[in-house]
Amino acid sequence: MINDKLKIEKIMVDGQPQLKLKGVIDEDASFDVIKKENGPLYLNLSEVTGINSLGIRNWVNLGKELSGREIFYIECPPVIVRQMNMIPSFSGQAKVVSVFVPYVCDNCETEKLVLVGQKELSLSSPQVAESFSCENCKNGEMELDGNPKQYFAFKK
Ligand SMILES: [Zn+2]
Repeated sequence: MINDKLKIEKIMVDGQPQLKLKGVIDEDASFDVIKKENGPLYLNLSEVTGINSLGIRNWVNLGKELSGREIFYIECPPVIVRQMNMIPSFSGQAKVVSVFVPYVCDNCETEKLVLVGQKELSLSSPQVAESFSCENCKNGEMELDGNPKQYFAFKK
């Protein structure tokens, strides 16, 4: 984790500027790039690889500093979704645009992340496949890694 220091890059997706976070959110993570940004904040979290307890505190404090700003979380990986589910203040006022749902093959243990977007997330209980056949071994079933109700508990 030591060499995985958080980097924040500005990217353009369909003409919309996003801030892409890469690496681990910990006590050394600097959010200056986010704080300097004007207007709505589109935070792409797909390449966040980990977060520790001091990182969580950092992140919650950032949310407080940015209170009143429009914030969107895009492509949240499971490591972020789990924090949002455990700690309501983790996402604060942010709108969750899309999340990755983890699946694991019951035969070859291949893992796959499936992106669930705004349309599904706007439903009170998102409809996601509980399982689908594995493209890797063609033999097993990819199963949702966890309980779907728990996984979408962050939805308010
Ligand atoms: Zn498989």
